[in-house]
Amino acid sequence: MAETKSTCCYCGVGCGVVIEHEAGRITGVRGDPDHPANFGRLCTKGSTLHLSAAPDTLIARALYPALRTDRNAGRERVSWDTALDTAAERFAAIIAEHGPDAVAVYGAGQLLTEDYYVFNKLVKGLIGTNNLDTNSRLCMSSAVAGYKLSLGADAPPCSYEDIAHSHALFITGSNTAFAHPIAFRRIEDARKARPGMKLVVVDPRRTDTAEAADLHLPLLPGTDIALYNAMLHVMLWEGWVNRDYIEAHTEGFDAVKKAVREYTPAMAATLCGLEKKAIEQAAEIFATAPATMSMYCQGLNQYSFGTHNNSALINLHLATGQIGRPGAGPFSLTGQPNAMGGREVGGLANLLSAHRDMANPEHRAEVAALWGVDDVPAQPGKSAVEMFNGLRSGEIKAIWIACTNPAQSMPDQALIHEALAKAEFVVVQEAFGHTETCAYADLLLPATTWGEKDGTVTNSERAISRVRAAVSAPGEARHDWAIVVDFARRLGIHMGKADLAARMFPYTTPESIWNEHRESTRSRDLDITGLSYSLLENAGPQQWPFPEGADAGKVRLYEDGVFPTPSGKARFVLTEHRITAESPSARYPLHLNTGRLRDQWHGMSRTGLVARLYSHEPEPMLHMHKDDMERRGLASGDLVQVKSKRGDVVLKVLESATLRPGQTFVPMHWGGNTMGGQGVNVLLPSAFDPYSKQPELKHAAVQVEKYKAG
Ligand code: SF4
Repeated sequence: MAETKSTCCYCGVGCGVVIEHEAGRITGVRGDPDHPANFGRLCTKGSTLHLSAAPDTLIARALYPALRTDRNAGRERVSWDTALDTAAERFAAIIAEHGPDAVAVYGAGQLLTEDYYVFNKLVKGLIGTNNLDTNSRLCMSSAVAGYKLSLGADAPPCSYEDIAHSHALFITGSNTAFAHPIAFRRIEDARKARPGMKLVVVDPRRTDTAEAADLHLPLLPGTDIALYNAMLHVMLWEGWVNRDYIEAHTEGFDAVKKAVREYTPAMAATLCGLEKKAIEQAAEIFATAPATMSMYCQGLNQYSFGTHNNSALINLHLATGQIGRPGAGPFSLTGQPNAMGGREVGGLANLLSAHRDMANPEHRAEVAALWGVDDVPAQPGKSAVEMFNGLRSGEIKAIWIACTNPAQSMPDQALIHEALAKAEFVVVQEAFGHTETCAYADLLLPATTWGEKDGTVTNSERAISRVRAAVSAPGEARHDWAIVVDFARRLGIHMGKADLAARMFPYTTPESIWNEHRESTRSRDLDITGLSYSLLENAGPQQWPFPEGADAGKVRLYEDGVFPTPSGKARFVLTEHRITAESPSARYPLHLNTGRLRDQWHGMSRTGLVARLYSHEPEPMLHMHKDDMERRGLASGDLVQVKSKRGDVVLKVLESATLRPGQTFVPMHWGGNTMGGQGVNVLLPSAFDPYSKQPELKHAAVQVEKYKAG
């Protein structure tokens, strides 16, 4: 038996794994004891990775390129040459007739950094549009915008080791016990080691994470800003703010101080549906603990005011000086294994390589010089919701979707299905051929996946970790980066830019791509010029920044109190309470909250293949309070129809003590393929945050009725 070290391909904890394999077959997986994210531990998802690996799950894999020339007929197997030549011809013709903005690429936080880099270079460099977005838009873009707005850069300041240094943890909008289980194990360890450590959890539901808390604040969905502003009000009233820190290291405090005057605990208690005393207690713990760290995820990000949710929370850290010290600071928990790596290479419609600013002509010129092109476009491309709206309206004619399933994961699904059906040409580059999006592919390109591919990922704590192949690809599947490079060269020929494309895409290995990415970071905040594949090979994962000449990466940012803003000071951001995109009404009287289960991940393309992972929750159920069920004459197990303004789904109902009356919950993992045609996202609105463009996937107003067949 052979062993290969790699990284788990699920959540942003980024645990190290040891893949056990024999005769080209993955036989087992265990935690890597040397990996700093997990020290040998794995959760239920990570420890069953081998059960979703080929050849046992070959039936679910895309194995050969397949092309459909007639929308009413099925796809037929073709050679890679035919597949990529056809794609290049179609893309080049559309670009020639309608311009570069008529095509788009939609990727994923599961792509490796090297994959992301070549996709970004293809779209923004060779094609000349910024229409490249990814499912990270649905996940962390509000955290990105929040960091940039408040602290000046998209850089999580903390590390997992800060959990052990912390005296108070403020977990908000995250069921860490389910969604980031190994980070939660570290929290449990830290609390055992430091019995006085406080855990405050803010969540509308009494989740497993909330169950473990010293103080749980079950706020009404979408009222976070009112809560944090009221906490700041209390801190000011009680004299718990750190005036020296505010004076030396921040700006904009006076305006925020004035604004939070009206957010009295009594007023916020009404808005948030909380006890006034609980708000005061939370403020006291946050402000007076020797070191407070907040940990947060989709419950903050997935709102149409997600950026201000983040900034209102960061205001608390700045006001109390709870940042830049061991155990103190805001720490976003990345949902995907490499959303961070994607952001590093500029893999979103409004980003450029190495955290450069698209609106800055000098930054664009630096990227253009590195890539050997005249310029990169200044106008941001279309973000996820805008991209599919563009496809539906005909503004975008062709889309290339890689490693993600928007037909399930985007909000207001009926519109997404309509957009994909209307598109002139849809390419889907996927390892798994059974997703709902694959059904719309005119061209399906089989890609390699975990256990088969090489490269790097960056986890929530800025640690870059190697991903390694243990076995070869099944069928004719190819690596994502190799597909892009081959396509780019062929597209160059059809665009009359063959020489340029050959110069831009000379890569023969992921390492050669990564080395170019590394060079692009020189002197930037995420400088990794001191790293190499061999260093990662020999010394294990490393955190950025790690500039040339450094001995180690930075565990913690802003320890010197200097922030990457023009003034060097962090910014207080004025944030006001806003209401959700839709409020409960007479027709749709209940709040719907969506979230994650312990044993499933995203749209289940991989975890859904593992029988063992269904033992925790075998099917999607609507969780509901008993009062709301009694009012409707429902018992657990009854089929109910859940309706919003946009559509409806039929599910079993489950009585749940984790919810307050008036609120419901559905796990987001199951889609139309597994729910008889409609996934839960058919219910959700596509309203999005004006700064981050992240849609409000966390909340809808719904009605629930007993299902009557026919
Ligand atoms: Fe994988 Fe996340 Fe579980 Fe770690 S915590 S094993 S990264 S799913």
